[in-house]
Order: sequence, then structure tokens, then C-alpha cells
Amino acid sequence: MSIDLTEAAKERGIKFFLVSYTDLFGAQRAKLVPAAAIGGMVKGGAGFAGFATWLDMSPADSDLLAMPDPDSLIQLPWKPEVGWLAADLWMDGEPVEQGPRNTLKRVMAAAAGQGYQLRTGVECEFFLTTLDGKTVSDSADTATKPCYDQQALMRRFDVIAEISEAMSSLGWNPYQSDHEDATGQFEMNWEYDDALVTADRHAFFKYMTRAIAEKHGFRATFMPKPFPQLTGSGCHVHLSLWRDGQNLFSDAEGELGLSRLGYQFIAGVLNEATALCAITNPTVNSYKRINAPVTVSGATWSPNTVTYSGNNRTHMIRIPGGDRFEFRLPDGAANPYLLPAAVLAAGLDGIANRLDPGKRLDINMYTDGHTVTDARKLPLNLLDALRGLERSEVLRGALGDRLISSFLRLKETEWNSYSRHLTQWEIDNTLDC
Ligand code: ADP
Ligand code: MG
Ligand code: MG
Ligand code: MG
Ligand code: MG
Repeated sequence: MSIDLTEAAKERGIKFFLVSYTDLFGAQRAKLVPAAAIGGMVKGGAGFAGFATWLDMSPADSDLLAMPDPDSLIQLPWKPEVGWLAADLWMDGEPVEQGPRNTLKRVMAAAAGQGYQLRTGVECEFFLTTLDGKTVSDSADTATKPCYDQQALMRRFDVIAEISEAMSSLGWNPYQSDHEDATGQFEMNWEYDDALVTADRHAFFKYMTRAIAEKHGFRATFMPKPFPQLTGSGCHVHLSLWRDGQNLFSDAEGELGLSRLGYQFIAGVLNEATALCAITNPTVNSYKRINAPVTVSGATWSPNTVTYSGNNRTHMIRIPGGDRFEFRLPDGAANPYLLPAAVLAAGLDGIANRLDPGKRLDINMYTDGHTVTDARKLPLNLLDALRGLERSEVLRGALGDRLISSFLRLKETEWNSYSRHLTQWEIDNTLDC
């Protein structure tokens, strides 16, 4: 039984609910609903004009109804009179096939049908910048190797501590926060959970981090590569499959402690990497993070090739040991719902076809990658990734034809808009051609 939101509002002092959904570009759209009206919204949904958001709809479509999921309720720690609710999308009495949260639930239901529950943990790197986004917020944060910089971390203690305490109060079990590898960049980690729970938290974390940063006069950005010479913002995802409370990726006898099922899942992800890229690295800017030249810190920490390794951060997939693997490809622009949906779809295909990932590579891929002649390169730009997604029968089959077509249509339009933009580079390099 889900909780009664009207009762919860009375008990917890919630005056408003944010009925929120995430569109195909990852933007959160919401209606602010007074507590007295939430009962009606739970029954009938909050109405939106779908065309006005990134969902590939028409202005002539019927009302898009966002049905709040009472189990997703998060009372804003910094504004407790408001309760945030993730919503599923409906139209004309049917679930909207291209709704990102609907899609994740669909793929997870298919996995559940085979006895698998996906659990994920995400690492959402972000920059704190000035409000105009032009420079990092801290002018004293200038080290060449700023990773784990204690002084710079503590200069932003007020922001980081407020977010960390918020996560604690919500029961997410945060366990560490640090200054990351770029100046102005941070990461905050909380414990993994069921993939839908993590996806809702991932969406909420982005909202919360932006909101708390704004409160302190800064801007938080998850843009993959806001500063070309610095390390970009990844969104690594750690994954394991479970059944009846048992981690099916864990096998003490297996290579690096990972089970055969785990390797089959990895093989599926390797197979679909090009197509996955369109979902995990969904913006023009994403391709300035992967395949990037060395940054000022000495390493990009992002992958260039479709390869896997043990506890080695120069590959696309890292097996840190034991009960899970880390997929290092996704970046801060990845949709919190489509990201796990697509990776799960690829992994399930690996399991269904008992795929073998081949031997892992233990080399430093940044310095010695050239010695591996058959390592596949990741797509060099968004268009190549979109073409890869278009060709992927595995992702189309699992995520749904409408989701894939809608995503591609919107992203191709975005790519065309970018391509029509005249850049300073063109002027500088080809004015006198
Ligand atoms: P690193 O920086 O070494 O990649 P982090 O500590 O920043 O790792 O993040 C690790 C994430 O992986 C956390 O969210 C953690 O809870 C999660 N995690 C740990 N074990 C598992 C598991 N078995 N399945 C899924 N996620 C896991
Ligand atoms: Mg109106
Ligand atoms: Mg980390
Ligand atoms: Mg990191
Ligand atoms: Mg990581």
C-alpha cells in the first residue's frame, strides 16, 4: 500500500507538492500543487501540454497527465513545506511509451520477469561556478592537480555539508564527499539501491544540488565538459543484478570475484557501447569529455575505447573487485532514467545470448592504448552515436520503438541546430581558404 499523501502532508507539515517528471532531455518539469489538491492529482494526474517539453509530442495532442508516485515522496530538506514527487506519464488512458521513467519501469519489469533486480549507484560529478557559469566559483581554486584538495573542499563546506546532511536526513546513507580532479569540481557519494530508487534520487540530487548551490550564490552544473582544458564531469554507474536478496554478480570463484552472469552482462554492454553512447553521452558537449586530449591534471579519467579492465580507471568498464562493475562512460548530461534502462537492456541481451566479453585489458589505456590494435573507439561525436543507436535492434527492442524514434528525432534536430551554428573556429581557420 502506498502512503496517503493528504495524510502525509498533515503529519509532516507539507503545504505544497511538486509533481515532477523528467523529459527526454533530462529536464524536470513540475506543477506546484497545494496539499489540499493532491488527492485529486493522485487519482487523475497533473495536466501538462506535452509539446511544450522534450517528449516529441504535438500541440494537438490531448492532455499529458503526470501521475505522482507516492512512494517517491521526498520532503525538501531545505524547504520542508514542499514535497517532491516523481511522476509517470499517461495520455488518453495509456502510459506514454517515450516517458523516461515509464521506460525504466518497463525494462525493469522485463528483467523482473526473468528473476533479475538491478541495483545501481551513481557518482554525479558537478562544478560549482559563478552564477553566469563562466568561471569556477572559487578564484583561489587553481591547483594543477586539485583532486581531493582539502583546502578548496573546505572553502565550499557550507554548500557540500548542507547537501550531505540533506541526504543523511533522507536516509540515502551518504558516505563521502570530495573535491574532484578539475578545479571547482566536486563529487558526493551515497549508497546504491534498487535502480528505480537510485534514478529518482539521481534526478532529485541534480535538482537539490542546483537549488542549494543557488541559495549560497553559486551555480551547480553537471555539463560534461564546461572547461575544455579541465577534467569533465562523469556520471559513473555501478551495477549488480540481484535475486531474492542475493547478488548474482558475486562469485568468490569467478575471475576478480565476478560471476559468469556478470561477465555476460558486461559483454552485452561492450556490444552495444556505440548505441549506448547516444543515451549515456547525449549532448554535443559530451564528446569533448570522452576521446579528449590530456587535461591539465594529467588524465581525463574518461574512456576512449570499448574495453574493460580490473581495478583500472583508464577503460570504459572497471571491475573494482567483487560484487559489481563500474561503467565509466556516462556523463552528467545522461538522463537519470534512460541511463539505467539502456545499460540494463544491453546487459540482459548479453545474458540472453550468453555473450563472452573476451579477455580483460590490464594496460594503461591512455599511454599504451595504441598497442591494442583491435580496440574499438567510442563515437567521436553525437551524430555518430545517434547513428549507432538507430542501428541497435537490442536497444530498440527493449526500450521500445517509440522511445528510440522520439529520442532520435529530437536529438537529430538538436544536432542540426548545432551544425548550423557558425563558430569562431571556422572564422579563425577558414576565412582565408
Ligand atoms: P569510485 O569513485 O571508486 O568509482 P564511489 O565510492 O565514488 O566509487 O561510488 C561507488 C558507488 O557504487 C556507490 O554509489 C556505491 O554504493 C555503489 N556500489 C557499491 N557496491 C555496489 C553494488 N554491489 N551494486 C551497485 N552499486 C554498488
Ligand atoms: Mg494554462
Ligand atoms: Mg567516486
Ligand atoms: Mg569521480
Ligand atoms: Mg567511479
